[in-house]
Amino acid sequence: FISALIGALVALSIISLVLSLVRVEDVSLPPTVKYGMVFDAGSSHTSLFVYQWDSDKENDTGVVSQTLSCDVQGQGISSYANNPPAAGNSLRECLDKALQVVPAEKQRDVPAYLGATAGMRLLREQNSSATEQVLAEVAKTMQEYPVAFKGARILTGEEEGAYGWITINYLLDSFTKVGKGWDAPNIFGALDLGGASTQITFVPEGSVLGQNEGSGVTLYGYSYNIYTHSYLCYGQNEMLKRLAKDTRVQHPCYPKGYTEPVSVSSLRSSPCTASSDPRLPPGDSTVTLEGSGNASACLAALRKLFNFSACGQSQDCTFDGVYQPPLRGQFIAFSAFYYNFKFLNLTEGQPLAVVRGAIEGLCRRSWQDVQNPQRLPKYCANANYILTLLLDAYKFNETSWNNIFFQMKAGSADVGWTLGYMLNLTNMVPPKAPARLKGHRP
Ligand code: AMP
Repeated sequence: FISALIGALVALSIISLVLSLVRVEDVSLPPTVKYGMVFDAGSSHTSLFVYQWDSDKENDTGVVSQTLSCDVQGQGISSYANNPPAAGNSLRECLDKALQVVPAEKQRDVPAYLGATAGMRLLREQNSSATEQVLAEVAKTMQEYPVAFKGARILTGEEEGAYGWITINYLLDSFTKVGKGWDAPNIFGALDLGGASTQITFVPEGSVLGQNEGSGVTLYGYSYNIYTHSYLCYGQNEMLKRLAKDTRVQHPCYPKGYTEPVSVSSLRSSPCTASSDPRLPPGDSTVTLEGSGNASACLAALRKLFNFSACGQSQDCTFDGVYQPPLRGQFIAFSAFYYNFKFLNLTEGQPLAVVRGAIEGLCRRSWQDVQNPQRLPKYCANANYILTLLLDAYKFNETSWNNIFFQMKAGSADVGWTLGYMLNLTNMVPPKAPARLKGHRP
């Protein structure tokens, strides 16, 4: 009996040793790293972003980091309307790079998205079958790679605005700091200027739910009424085309001594400039724009691109009769807002008067003086356009100007709609506060 008892005790201690080893192993298992990827198929270019996060923290905020960003060579996918397979092929280089940063055994679990924005919205207006073909080709290419393809589609302008807003506030960890009564100062608005559209998104004072531009999102147990509006044809490149069409020969926003041939067919190729205009010469002729470098005439020409009178006396209106409640809180201005101001060294929080002075100075410089063939002739137009959009349309003033932060990064990640899009589609920004976050909330 005693030997049987000893035997049983030994067996028991072996079992408990094994169990404790298993438990120790359980606890010491490192959390697995997960990955996701999103193509931002913009109007002028496409970028791929690869993100990663620890599987045990999925529902926290600010835990996703950017592993890779890759610029696709060439123009945006909408430029491949006449050769859709080339749109798909253009993505390969970045897909190959992405696979180099994701361990082979994890690649099949990587959710992969492509979102196209205003360039494709414009192409859809003109040629919906080419648009579908381009989307089918980029989807086909992505499906050839060992990742979990989740779709290639065109975002609405409102989605683009809202996902940019989610990205910013996720990266700046605003959502978990929100509590009753002191929500707004911690939530940032989003200002995005692309090549073909521009978006403004913020949480206004009152509810905007009854309006077209209002939408409700519940994140981490708190509901936000956000105002978002996207203006198609008010992106930077479409604006330049509309300006070229209006000014024809003497171009006040281009430097003195600079000339640029513009083919009339390029103006006809965009729905933003294609409307029948008796001043557009017939056929496929070329108009030569001659810079006259005149900041005030440039501003005046830019203002004409906006239909301010459609707002009448209403203060809650930007232009073209679009509703916008009073601005509220601080804003992050990214994409082309940032690129232009960065180039002009104006991203250090300079007051509006300094910014105006710098832009006037830039517009006065002659072409011989500035000589940089790439973008320089456009900076005077772009910078004045940004001023017109922010001040005259959105109604920032001398004081609220100081609430705009021109930046392209938050932490180590780029600011844009892609991260918010992925977070939403992978259910990583839950409507309810996860248990671990509840403790942070007041
Ligand atoms: P999208 O391709 O729609 O995302 O738009 C990006 C916009 O940023 C386009 O209008 C580009 O021309 C513009 N952009 C990109 N890089 C720069 C830069 N370095 N300076 C000024 N504008 C830029």
